[in-house]
Amino acid sequence: MKSIKDSLNFAEAIMDTVREPLIVLNPDLCVISANRSFYKIFHSNKTDTENKYIYKLGNGQWDNPKLRHLLENILPSKSFFQDFEIEHKFPQIGTRVVLLNARKVFQKNSNGPMILLAIEDITEKKQLDRQKDDFIAIASHELKTPVTSIKLYTQILQKHPLITSDERASDMLTKMDTQMNRLMELVASFMNVYKLQTGKLRLRRTTFSLDELISEVVGNFQYTITSHSVIFTCDKKVKIFADNARINQVLVNLISNAIKYSPDAKKVIVSLKAETRKVTVTIQDFGMGIPKEEQDKIYERFFRAKGKKEGKIPGLGLGLFISSEIIKQLNGELWVKSTEGKGSTFYFTLPRGKQTKMLN
Ligand code: ADP
Repeated sequence: MKSIKDSLNFAEAIMDTVREPLIVLNPDLCVISANRSFYKIFHSNKTDTENKYIYKLGNGQWDNPKLRHLLENILPSKSFFQDFEIEHKFPQIGTRVVLLNARKVFQKNSNGPMILLAIEDITEKKQLDRQKDDFIAIASHELKTPVTSIKLYTQILQKHPLITSDERASDMLTKMDTQMNRLMELVASFMNVYKLQTGKLRLRRTTFSLDELISEVVGNFQYTITSHSVIFTCDKKVKIFADNARINQVLVNLISNAIKYSPDAKKVIVSLKAETRKVTVTIQDFGMGIPKEEQDKIYERFFRAKGKKEGKIPGLGLGLFISSEIIKQLNGELWVKSTEGKGSTFYFTLPRGKQTKMLN
């Protein structure tokens, strides 16, 4: 008996220590207990909470259609759910965005599992994210015009007789132009992120030859990069109906990464495979690879691996976010298989719709 009491005290102490609001429900969705944080944040107390039906708590403030769907439709068939986001107007604390995490706890001699529900208020974080996005959007928009004109003037200057006759000046202007290109790419990345997040990225689909596009992109790398040879293998000529410029962007990003993250390797292999319903493009490198625990995170905005080697390689952590969103919008998939220290292979697929033809 004493040990049961000790366990209960222990469980209660854990619940009260957790900073997030936490409630435990019985199988009929009545509250068994809640923690201190729950009472504090939702202006409630034990008497008004325990043994009450969750939807009746605080004048029905938890009666939210999404939460109902979650507890009544999703949870019965799963043992847990994670990071389910809902926006809800609470009478006392106003509209909040909360993340819900739930887990079923099975116990002997009970008529069903208890439900542990954790509620994380992410309203401020969301607002900060929005402010950051707005800032990036405005800054990149304002930067675009001056950067484009500086680029134009650089190009005009490069042709000026005073410059063409002076090797050192000409060399400096070429370097300036290269840096200008990097700056323009950065501005374009920021603008792309904003457009993707606000659903404003317009896709322009046409029918084009994917193998030709890949050959062209690979050819450009061969022309400008001396550190690696980029090899392209393709089993068929394939026409697809998609956005040529955006796929170009994805290819450039994945091949640049393959080169960037394999400084000690000599080659990158690009391949294209066509099946009846889809095409698969792979970009394989023999570089540093990606640790298993980071492989899911690399598609997040601003994510960069924490390894020592990666730290020295420049980047913003936007390329894979942009690429995976573009492929998603084109109804394809993008993923990676990677072994640390051995290399990575990025895959992306694109559907072959009605307008997509196999040429041979
Ligand atoms: P960036 O290269 O600008 O950091 P990305 O979004 O393209 O941004 O990539 C995110 C992160 O994923 C990189 O910082 C790197 O840690 C990892 N990554 C991407 N491609 C590769 C690759 N081919 N090999 C190893 N790590 C990679």
